[in-house]
Amino acid sequence: MVFDSGQNGPDVVITGMVHGNEYAGGHALERLRRTAPVPAIGRVTLILANLKAFDRFDRSAPMASRYKDEDLNRLWHPSRLNSEEQSNELERARELRPFIERADLLLDLHSTLWPSNPLFIVPPRRRSSDLACALASEAGLPTLVLTDLGHHGGSRLIEHARFMAVGGTGRSCLLEAGLHWEPQTVDVMEKVSRRFLAEALNVHLQGVAQDKTQPVRLAVVTDNVTAKSAEFSFVEPWVGNTCIPRAGTVIARDGHDAICTPYDDCLLIVPNLRPKQGQLAVRLARRTAVHLNS
Ligand SMILES: [Zn+2]
Repeated sequence: MVFDSGQNGPDVVITGMVHGNEYAGGHALERLRRTAPVPAIGRVTLILANLKAFDRFDRSAPMASRYKDEDLNRLWHPSRLNSEEQSNELERARELRPFIERADLLLDLHSTLWPSNPLFIVPPRRRSSDLACALASEAGLPTLVLTDLGHHGGSRLIEHARFMAVGGTGRSCLLEAGLHWEPQTVDVMEKVSRRFLAEALNVHLQGVAQDKTQPVRLAVVTDNVTAKSAEFSFVEPWVGNTCIPRAGTVIARDGHDAICTPYDDCLLIVPNLRPKQGQLAVRLARRTAVHLNS
């Protein structure tokens, strides 16, 4: 859905339901659509990304409709997009590609299976980190901006070349807004989206928001903890973004191994409380005072 002012200006894109079962993103986009968000200049595009997966949504197996053939959020590297391979999701990615390639600012709305305080995730580029900080600096919105170095398994939408090119201008940011299927998650998505639209021009031109009413916390992912055994279990049902004050605190057990925090004030990012063997269980992140990215 494209809302075009007819005037030259930033191209602003919001995506929801990149994971077909995360329909909170669909609700948030529908709320925006009803307000017909035509910007003063530039263009706003709202994208419901994986509707074919969502069509298969079944309450008794709500995780089965995350995707149809493969995860739409792992396909955005040119080596996949330009390949001869075929899948429902690759086809959709290729269809959406022109809208992503013209985006100056991208916000990608997601939700989580396990309880987690909302946070922003950005690729390792200063311009995207600035975008997330601009969004996070309004009172009442998530305050944590996490930089990570990609996801094993493939490039996410926020890592499309438009946003990764050194010296480029496209900025991207992912929002983990809260639990799947919760009304509060839709509210968080809507608030952040409105902030995004309101500050888009300032961020596009100056890299900063005009209105800042709260400090932002920066962090960077240092470790991916994968379940090596089928007996992996956390010692507590950690809520995402919990900060563990002391290095050496046992957070989980994996067979005979104890998993400990490697440094003080370690953040537990979006724990998967019941990981299967070989699955990512949690990511560890360290607070930083400065942007670490280029
Ligand atoms: Zn997701």
